[in-house]
Amino acid sequence: MLYESTRGFSEKVTASRAIVLGLAPDRGLFVPEKFVTLSTAQIAALAQKDYRARAVEILRAYLDDFTEDELATCAGLAYGGQKFDHPAVAPVQKIAPGLYALELWHGPTLAFKDMALQLMPHLLTRAAQKTGEDATIAILVATSGDTGKAALEGFKDVPGTVIAVFYPEKGVSEVQKLQMVTQEGGNLAVIAVQGNFDDAQTGVKEIFGDTVFNAELKKYGFVLSSANSINWGRLAPQIVYYFSAYADLMTAGEIEPGEEVVYVVPTGNFGNILAAFYAKEMGLPVKKLVLAANTNNVLVDFIRTGTYDRRRQFYRTISPSMDILISSNAERLVYHASGRDGQKVKSWMEELGGGGVYRVDAGTYEVIASAFWADSATDAETLDTIRKVYTATGYIADPHTAVGLCVAEKYRRAAGDNTKAVVASTASPFKFNASVAKAVLGEEKTAGKSEFELLTLLAQATGTQVPPALNELDKKPVLHPKSIKKEEMALEVKNFLLGQVSRTR
Ligand SMILES: *Cc1c(COP(=O)(O)O)cnc(C)c1O
Repeated sequence: MLYESTRGFSEKVTASRAIVLGLAPDRGLFVPEKFVTLSTAQIAALAQKDYRARAVEILRAYLDDFTEDELATCAGLAYGGQKFDHPAVAPVQKIAPGLYALELWHGPTLAFKDMALQLMPHLLTRAAQKTGEDATIAILVATSGDTGKAALEGFKDVPGTVIAVFYPEKGVSEVQKLQMVTQEGGNLAVIAVQGNFDDAQTGVKEIFGDTVFNAELKKYGFVLSSANSINWGRLAPQIVYYFSAYADLMTAGEIEPGEEVVYVVPTGNFGNILAAFYAKEMGLPVKKLVLAANTNNVLVDFIRTGTYDRRRQFYRTISPSMDILISSNAERLVYHASGRDGQKVKSWMEELGGGGVYRVDAGTYEVIASAFWADSATDAETLDTIRKVYTATGYIADPHTAVGLCVAEKYRRAAGDNTKAVVASTASPFKFNASVAKAVLGEEKTAGKSEFELLTLLAQATGTQVPPALNELDKKPVLHPKSIKKEEMALEVKNFLLGQVSRTR
C-alpha cells in the first residue's frame, strides 16, 4: 500500500515514510492510495479475536511494510499489559435499548487520544528504522490539554525517542496540568509557556521550520518529529475500534451480521469521525455518520451547506477538547469526496488559509451529505443531557460524550431514524468532573469545591470509584516546575536535547 498527498504531490510513499514524514512535502496530508475492504465474513470473524488481534487484522493491509509479527508486538505493547483498565480495551456499554457508548477512555490518560498514542510511538520507531533514519526522534508537542498527556504516556521511555511538551501556563485545567507536571519517565520534558495555546503552537512551528536549528540538532543525533493528529500513524489505529464495537455488538446479540448501525462522534479536529468514515468506506455497515459539535459548530455548517467558513467567534465551552475552528483532518474527507482531486483540494485549502472560507463543488458535497448528518449542543444542553441520561439510565457521561448523546437524540427525532446508534465516548467523566458533578449533584452541592474535592464527591454520589490515574494526583511530586517565555522555547529544546545526549548514547 502506498500513500499519496491530498494536494496532488506526484510521488507516492510507503506507510513507514508517511508516518515518519507526518506531512507530505506539498503540505498535504497522506492518505492510502485505496481503501482496504473487509467482507461480511471477515467482519464477523473479528468477533472471535481480542482487541490486539483486531488491530493487527485492520492495520496489516495499510501498514504492509510491517510484518504481522511486528504489528502484533506493537499492538501488544500498546493495548496489552496494564495499560488499559478494561480487558476489552474499548468496551461497548448499552445505555438504553438501541443506544450504546463505545468507551475510548480506558487508557492511562482517561481520554480517547490514548487509543492512537499508545500505539503510534511503536509504529514510529519501527518506521524510522525501515526508512534508514538512525537519529533519535525528538517529538515536540504544543498542547491545549489532552494530547500532551497522552503523548507523554505514549512516548515515555520508548527507546529511540525523546519528547518535549509545551502547554500554556494558564490555559489548561488543574487536573490536566497536574497530570503533565507529575509525569514520570527519563526521556521527557514538560514546560509551561507564559502565553496562550497559540503562542506555544507558534513556537513549536517556528522550531520545526528553522532549518539552521534543525541541522544543528542533527549533528547531535536528533531529528524532530510531531505526534499530532494529521499523522497517518495516529489516524489508522482509530479505525480499529469502529470495527471492534461492531464485532462486540454482534457477539452480544444486539445486531445481526450485516445490520446497519449509526455512529455518533463528538468532533473537534475531525480525526475521530474521519476514522469512522474510513471504516464505512472499508465495508463496515454504517448507515450514517452523525457529527456532534459544541457551540464551535463550524463543521456542522460545513456538513449542512458545503461551505467551510472559519471566520466566526471562538467559544470556550465545557467540552474544551472540541473547541476548535480549523479541523485539519477535514482535508482528507474533501479529498476522498472529490474523487481524489488533489488540485481542487489544494485550491480549497489555499482559500481557507487566505480568506478563511472555501466551498466544495456539487459533486463533492453530494458525497459528504449522503454519508454525514450534523448538529451541535450548547453547554446548557450538554449539562442537561448529562443529568437526564444519568437519572434515566445511571450512565455517567463526560461533557464531550454528552454532546454526542444530545446530538444522537436530535438525529433520531429529526430524521425519524431508530437505527441502533453507537456514541463514541471520548473521555472519562472523572477527567472533566467539575461539569459532570455540577450536572449530577446540582449547583449548591458543588459550589466552591476544588476539582479534587469534586472527584471524591462524584464517586461517592454515583457509587463509582475515582480512577487510580487521578487519585492522589494532587499529592504526587511536581517533577516539571519550569515556566518560560515563548521566546525561550528553542533554547529550552536545545538544552533538553543536549541533556539527553549522554542518556541516550
Ligand atoms: C480530542 C478530543 C475530541 C475531538 O476529537 P477529534 O479527533 O479532534 O475530532 C473529543 N473529545 C475528547 C475528550 C478529546 O480529547
